[in-house]
Amino acid sequence: MKEARVLYWFRTDLRLHDSPALQAALDLSRPSYTPIFTFDPHYVYHSKGSGNRWQFLLDCQNDLSESITKLNPRSQLFVLREAPQTLLPKLFKAWRITHLVFERDTDAYARARDRAVSDLARTAGVETLTRYGRTLWDSDAVVAQHGGKPTMSIAQLQAAGNKVGPIPTPLDFEQERPDADPDLNAPVRESEFQPYKTGIAGPHGDFRPEVLEELGFPPATTPHRGGETRALRMLDHILADEEYAAKFQKPKTSPAAFEPQSTTLLSPHHHFGSLSPRLFYWRVQDLVSRFKGASTPPESLTGQLLFRDMYFAAQAAIGAPFTQTHNNPHCRFIPWHLPSKVEAGTETGTNAISGEYHVDSLQAERWFQRWKAGLTGFPWIDALMRQLKHDGWIHHLGRHAVACFLTRGGCYVHWERGADVFEEWLLDHEPACNAGNWQWLSCTAFFSQYFRCYSPIAFGQKWDKEGRFVRRWVPELKDLDAKYIYEPWKAPLSALDKAGVRIEGDGGLGGNGKREEGTYPEPMFDFNERRKVCLDAMKTAYQVGIYGDDERVKNGTWRELFEAAGQGEMQEEDHTFSDANVDHADDAEHASHKRKVQVKKEGPMDRHVKKTKKEV
Ligand SMILES: Cc1cc2nc3c(=O)[nH]c(=O)nc-3n(C[C@H](O)[C@H](O)[C@H](O)COP(=O)(O)OP(=O)(O)OC[C@H]3O[C@@H](n4cnc5c(N)ncnc54)[C@H](O)[C@@H]3O)c2cc1C
Repeated sequence: MKEARVLYWFRTDLRLHDSPALQAALDLSRPSYTPIFTFDPHYVYHSKGSGNRWQFLLDCQNDLSESITKLNPRSQLFVLREAPQTLLPKLFKAWRITHLVFERDTDAYARARDRAVSDLARTAGVETLTRYGRTLWDSDAVVAQHGGKPTMSIAQLQAAGNKVGPIPTPLDFEQERPDADPDLNAPVRESEFQPYKTGIAGPHGDFRPEVLEELGFPPATTPHRGGETRALRMLDHILADEEYAAKFQKPKTSPAAFEPQSTTLLSPHHHFGSLSPRLFYWRVQDLVSRFKGASTPPESLTGQLLFRDMYFAAQAAIGAPFTQTHNNPHCRFIPWHLPSKVEAGTETGTNAISGEYHVDSLQAERWFQRWKAGLTGFPWIDALMRQLKHDGWIHHLGRHAVACFLTRGGCYVHWERGADVFEEWLLDHEPACNAGNWQWLSCTAFFSQYFRCYSPIAFGQKWDKEGRFVRRWVPELKDLDAKYIYEPWKAPLSALDKAGVRIEGDGGLGGNGKREEGTYPEPMFDFNERRKVCLDAMKTAYQVGIYGDDERVKNGTWRELFEAAGQGEMQEEDHTFSDANVDHADDAEHASHKRKVQVKKEGPMDRHVKKTKKEV
């Protein structure tokens, strides 16, 4: 039988354990096997990602590369620097590849990319093999796959790994540099993204993974680090506490717990694939089956993974519009402030990746910027947002609190603004889970009990009376009496003096000058008033009852419906304020230079969708 020359393309499956795609590659006849990762400009430039997430990725790459070398001292993870769409055809030829193998990805962009790459492989006479492995079941055939056995055979993998073929010789063709526009990560980097500049094999010509500085980002601030070895160790540690793992009930875990947190913190490993969700599922299931009084889905640990599968499957069905309102038939249209810029006639709008939006209300923009900066004047919300930015992770109920506050429970700002911020800062950012959960929390899809609203005061108090979590993340208040820690504006002067803090101003983000040392901002609104305004507005929006794919949403006549229904709070009509990719809404320039909004013609995502439609 002919020898198979396999190109194994690692993406978000950065592990050796329980990988069906990897197994499929190893099952081929007498395979020689080259494991690669290549930087995809879509993620480098056209979707947001903080240095923390890049660090996590590098950790995963390094760990994976070491594991491969342990199996075969002459091999490693070969990290390449070019877009897969242009690079892979060259590799097929240069390395005389017979099979391209990768784990399937149901994300809208990834699907389009993978279709294009598979077509290129077919043209080059290369057979493409793909397998599901990111989710518990095949998202395209959830029920059919239910009960499918997990492949958890690391021993098998190690045995087969010894048969890996020789290291291929370095490449000798020209590298094609991707188009960096739009580069949504430029503001976060300290210097330029270098890898595309150093040739396909990297600065030392050895295909090694980068260090963060080479990617242009400042050092990561997160304490949470990546890698399959670490993920498996974490899993062992979690399961060693049998009572905790078997009786886990999500609603009873505290969002205020830190060091250690109250949930597993495995989500970034699930995102990068350094931990197989099926391994996690079955190991928990195994424990649960022999444990008396174990919890059950949806509250249990396995139940959490079912939520994840649910969002993946929903995205798989809806496609690109799933991560936005525009064109999404399942996402309720609500006239929130700060709506995304959308180009009529495009499938994805420009929001899906660009993050550009209309500032219809300066007030809403200021609230949004204060929310993002952790300077709302509500210590519970600010602590969570600061933890999110610094650590790249917050507890699920913490995400509930900040998401509800930004949307239907305070600011009435579009959920897509919040999802954009999460996209940038979360280590575990997953388009399907992020958009799905934001829709859930804003009551635009999946969940409709909009009258159930989180208080930014009582919710924190419920979990953490003493305010330990707030003191950790809002050090301005660390010495404040617990009585006032969630409502510092109510503290008498004597208590504030004792704590060495003054409650004043708007954090420097509300148009009233800079934030002063030793101060913590006043609350940006009266929460009870805002809750009422939001509730009324949600009620009307539910009465109107239109969805993102409605023609009236697209042609703007939705406004008449809402006006007729007596909607109070809603998107303002005159989108005369532009340039919404700003960090500070109080910039005098913005206030004085109003100009008509420039709508971008077409986003890169649209171009991808179009291109693949043509190609398929
Ligand atoms: C507004 C908002 C945005 C979110 N964005 C993301 C995101 O981008 N990526 C992401 O993975 N999760 C997201 N979540 C879901 C959830 O908050 C995180 O998965 C969870 O907090 C991760 O912590 P953990 O690993 O300790 O979870 P655990 O409670 O230990 O759960 C175990 C695993 O189940 C999965 N999981 C748990 N809850 C959910 C859920 N509600 N939806 C999907 N998967 C879940 C995760 O993979 C997690 O690692 C979001 C939630 C909200 C409210």
